[in-house]
Amino acid sequence: LPGEMFGTARRNSAGCDLTDISVREPLLRRLADLERKRWTGGEGNGERIEIRSPFDRAQVVGEVVETSPADLDAMLSRAAAAQAAWDAIGGEARARLLDRTADLFEAHREDFYSLCIREAGKSLPDAVLEVREAVDFLRYYAAEARRLATPVQLPGPTGELNELRHHGRGVWTCISPWNFPLAIFTGPVAAALAAGNSAIAKPAEQTPLIGALAVRLMHEAGIPADVVQIAVGDGKIGAALVSHRLTSGVAFTGSTAVARAINRSLAEREGPIVPLIAETGGQNAMIVDSSALPEQVTRDVVASAFQSAGQRCSALRVLFVQEDVADTMLTMIRGAMEALSIGDPRLPTTDVGPVIDADAKASLDAHVAELRAAGKVVAELRLPPNNGSFVAPVIAELPSLASLKDEHFGPVLHVIRWQSGELDKVIDQINATGFGLTLGLQSRIDTVAEQVAAKARVGNLYINRNQIGAVVESQPFGGEGLSGTGPKAGGPHYVARFATERVTCIDT
Ligand code: NAP
Repeated sequence: LPGEMFGTARRNSAGCDLTDISVREPLLRRLADLERKRWTGGEGNGERIEIRSPFDRAQVVGEVVETSPADLDAMLSRAAAAQAAWDAIGGEARARLLDRTADLFEAHREDFYSLCIREAGKSLPDAVLEVREAVDFLRYYAAEARRLATPVQLPGPTGELNELRHHGRGVWTCISPWNFPLAIFTGPVAAALAAGNSAIAKPAEQTPLIGALAVRLMHEAGIPADVVQIAVGDGKIGAALVSHRLTSGVAFTGSTAVARAINRSLAEREGPIVPLIAETGGQNAMIVDSSALPEQVTRDVVASAFQSAGQRCSALRVLFVQEDVADTMLTMIRGAMEALSIGDPRLPTTDVGPVIDADAKASLDAHVAELRAAGKVVAELRLPPNNGSFVAPVIAELPSLASLKDEHFGPVLHVIRWQSGELDKVIDQINATGFGLTLGLQSRIDTVAEQVAAKARVGNLYINRNQIGAVVESQPFGGEGLSGTGPKAGGPHYVARFATERVTCIDT
């Protein structure tokens, strides 16, 4: 079992086998039924907001009530008041409630699939992966709560007992993005709770209904209503949570620019120094040399760049391909891209769904228009007629990385050719971006793999495979530099960072 050697043995979620027709057909019928459902979320005195599907703006998924500033104050006060009792019940009791939440997530997986498709525009396979990852976070962090519940005995002279214990810090504010609206919403909240904290969860404004269902199930599992609460709204609510005097930790996943703003806000606060865990953007590259297997490169590039419409933080943005094989590789990648089906994510045959909203589409369209005007676009899919926010997968060739300053969060693959003997220069260019999230390498030469692994300043390096879809506990995930602070989500140091450590020394 994963984690057996570390004492956290548990099974990863089984998910759902979509290749099995006896599983897939009833599921598709159930999802068709669920399309009529109108979901709700949030409570309090704020504005009512309708949530619409990114693939068809005419479709209403449900309605949420925004959290008002007055609601926020009351929420944080309740969370702070409930925290000591939650910490005192101990790691084992908290772990049982997190495990029960995982069971409920699995029992409600069809609801989550439906919401991930309708609210976030995910394809069905992506929705299945999303639920699996959320469940894995819950169970892994439950196992971590059990591990951390045992006090650590420390050395000392005869007659002295030294012991280190983990406790909750208070209330963690957990701010998440829309691109993993269940998994990244759930992970930091589960870690905060596992460590004995209360949590206020702020989903992205585009995907509050998924977060609302997740929190309802946490309550149904038995986690007290004051210990985990959801704050619905846009970045202003996030900023108000960060600067609130009762926030004692911030776990943020999103853009590098917002992480900086949060860091500044925390630095200016009066009172205790508040830790920030930030997981941010990337300018993720893959290096392909002439020893790589063309079919494998093709499969892995297409999955890394275009799956989830390129809206994964780990997604491939810049393909560095060695000149000797570049024409062959590009012909094959282009052919595979042209075979992708783009459109309605409710159809099981769809490979590429919409991007999240009109703003995301406008920003990607502007970038592609610039590439097109500069004559850089070498391949582009045609968009079907639609009423949503779709961006067709694109491949563009660039002379170097210098012109690519920002992360373009969608299905746009940039390609740069490199000459034999210039591998070091390629790694230097990638390091010079300052981002360090994922890096792919396709090579059959061991010394090349060693050279890249030794030199690349990157959180997750994937060799001879795609560079998306980190598995909880097997590939702890997170970057460095502009890509985040660590610790890695789904890794052995994550939950402990939500706790405070207390040492007792007894002279017996
Ligand atoms: P974003 O614009 O930074 O938003 C992330 C969250 O922060 C949202 O809930 C947002 O609220 C909130 N927010 C915005 N301004 C805020 C402020 N001043 N104070 C506090 N909270 C604020 O990012 P996004 O567009 O949702 O997500 C895409 C980004 O996330 C990409 O850069 C991607 O690479 C990164 N990402 C990184 C990882 C990782 O593990 N490293 C994983 C997933 C995504 P509203 O949206 O409601 O305004």
